[in-house]
Amino acid sequence: MPATPSDLARLDRDHHLHPFTDPKVLQEDAPIVMAGGKDSTLWDEDGKLYLDALAGLWCVNVGYGRTELAEVAAAQMERLAYYNTFFKTTTAPTAALAAKLAELMPDGLDHVVFANSGSEALDTIVRFCRLFWELKGQPDKKVMIGREEGYHGSTLATISLGGTLAMQAQGGLPLAGFAHVDTAYQFRHGAPGESAEAFAERAAGWIEEKILELGADTVAGVVVEPVQGAGGVIIPPPGYLARVQEICRRHDVLFALDEVVSAFGRLGAWSAAERFGLAPDFMALAKGLSSGYQPISAVMIGSRVAETLIEKSGGLAHGFTYAGHPVAAAVALANLQIIERENLIGRVRDDLSDHFAAALSRLADQPMVGEVRSLGLIGAVELVQQRDPKILYDPEGLVGAVVRDQMQSRGVIVRAVRDALVIAPPLVVTHREIDRIADTLRLVLDDILEQIG
Ligand code: PLP
Repeated sequence: MPATPSDLARLDRDHHLHPFTDPKVLQEDAPIVMAGGKDSTLWDEDGKLYLDALAGLWCVNVGYGRTELAEVAAAQMERLAYYNTFFKTTTAPTAALAAKLAELMPDGLDHVVFANSGSEALDTIVRFCRLFWELKGQPDKKVMIGREEGYHGSTLATISLGGTLAMQAQGGLPLAGFAHVDTAYQFRHGAPGESAEAFAERAAGWIEEKILELGADTVAGVVVEPVQGAGGVIIPPPGYLARVQEICRRHDVLFALDEVVSAFGRLGAWSAAERFGLAPDFMALAKGLSSGYQPISAVMIGSRVAETLIEKSGGLAHGFTYAGHPVAAAVALANLQIIERENLIGRVRDDLSDHFAAALSRLADQPMVGEVRSLGLIGAVELVQQRDPKILYDPEGLVGAVVRDQMQSRGVIVRAVRDALVIAPPLVVTHREIDRIADTLRLVLDDILEQIG
């Protein structure tokens, strides 16, 4: 291993192309080489400390430095480092995790398909939506509907399903068979004076209009993130998700929730489906499933689809070498035990979510802040050039990136999505750390305001 942090940065710069990073920029700005972590704190190879207000990529729910999870991984590797789940084999942790997920997720979601990443889980959902209708004798039901700013992963199908135009612009996407509607983003799309309830109804209507425009006999499924994370923490207005589910049912279209970010406590419940009383046909799980300690994801499959796949498929021609990997499954199980034992979900629901909302709300009077929003332990502070009437920054995203970088220099990691600073700390974050995130953001914004006069 190279000795110094600058050696590491140089090797990385010379040989590593990073996701969602301009390689040219990295030629000049050395990457930060992260070295270790404990709870919500990270440190880099130079010894600088950071408060990780994004829990990695909204995944390290139980926080860093859980020796217990390392021990579980080592023990499983010694016992059986790998075996597959193809054909007719399984392993003890894989079987136990499947049963545990069926127990934790809402009734009716009793079957699971394992994969290794959120992207693979969503890709699987696209495929199984189409397969379900083929098995039902309706092979023309193929189109998948996603939403503006939706993020479902980085494979060809998930980029096509998502609504991130910058991703679609690279590689000639979307593929055929995907359609998109505007999302329930009231800050952008709400009419003046419109209530959240009225907006929810109107925004859900866009999905129904799209189904009618395409013809329900061509639409396989609708996929939504309950809270859109990478799109800028877009929180659904009251009643929206239930209305979308009802529209899907009425038009005989499958309803899938991408719970890659929202499950395992982020919203103060095991899942958004539980929190909002939803019964989706599919649910994608990843990130908090193992708190990022191992790559693992899962698709929960509702009873109607599961019965059809079991009765009629004649065998699922689908699977990944590492799906249900025993080490990842063992770590995921132990991670779920930590969430239960430490009551992390109750902590978010009954304590942290209010403190978090109050801390962010204190920023609302800062002149650059156009909106503050949060649900559970995920939130955003959206910046505007002028609040009333609302004028967004043009071009979008420059100010957000400056704020993010200045936060990072002051030792607090957040992410900028356009000009929204998005925040989702580990579920073990303390009140003081939440206050520090909000106080640092205020300092940075006040500084910038002073500089631009
Ligand atoms: N779905 C959502 C909602 C996500 O936020 C992400 C990743 O951030 C994905 C899917 C893709 O997951 P992965 O990066 O593990 O492929």
